[in-house]
Amino acid sequence: MRERIIAGNWKMNSSLFEGVKLARSVVETVRGIEGVTVVICPPATHLVTIGKLIDGTGVGLGAQNVHWEEKGAFTGELSAGMLEDTRCRWVIIGHSERRAMFAETDQTVNLRLLKTVDSQLRPMVCIGETLDDRKAERTFEVIETQLRTGLKGVPLKGRGGLVIAYEPVWAIGTGQTATPEQAQEAHRFIRDVLMDMYNAADAGETVIQYGGSMNEENVAELMACDDVDGGLIGGASLKVDKFAAIVKAAAM
Ligand code: PEP
Repeated sequence: MRERIIAGNWKMNSSLFEGVKLARSVVETVRGIEGVTVVICPPATHLVTIGKLIDGTGVGLGAQNVHWEEKGAFTGELSAGMLEDTRCRWVIIGHSERRAMFAETDQTVNLRLLKTVDSQLRPMVCIGETLDDRKAERTFEVIETQLRTGLKGVPLKGRGGLVIAYEPVWAIGTGQTATPEQAQEAHRFIRDVLMDMYNAADAGETVIQYGGSMNEENVAELMACDDVDGGLIGGASLKVDKFAAIVKAAAM
């Protein structure tokens, strides 16, 4: 049985005060739920405070990005070591918002991943097609390129193992969730590409999250798909009731 992982991507939302309150509520509401790993990814300014607050609770702390160098003249960036100091053990890499707005490419995803596998951070690597890609029937080609270039030279079974988040860009923040059939088809394809790149055993154990308007109403049918092993949750992770309902539904 593969691990299940539900991670909340708070993006650039919440004041520190609101973030602390939300983190506390998440810890309280998911306490005792077994069979699912829970992670929250607050804004970077909250990491130190929330890292202390949730330490030892079972809820993991994640960052929303990481640079590939250890230190130096990289204004505005954070290294893996700096994130580890805040008790972060997870990191989102290659989110489509970073690809679309901040010049993230499969090559920079690759650099970040190569650095991360040497650290204590477990990466959740985001891939997924745009609406134009899907309309042009390029979904599988796009996903395959993102995997083959982004994961080049990166071990699949590093510390804890790489996590892949399939996030169709057209589903993110739009309320237009992929159908279970669309999600399963893409997840199966991802696993097949991983099998070809690595081996069947490691690909079979890799956690593939779905992301894109996942909520408390559609989580059960998505999680029922054979190759959907969790979720990367944006909007719904900012409301503790919704997030907790997703966690409960995802628990084995
Ligand atoms: C995301 O940004 O990773 C995401 C899945 O957002 P949402 O759940 O709001 O679509």
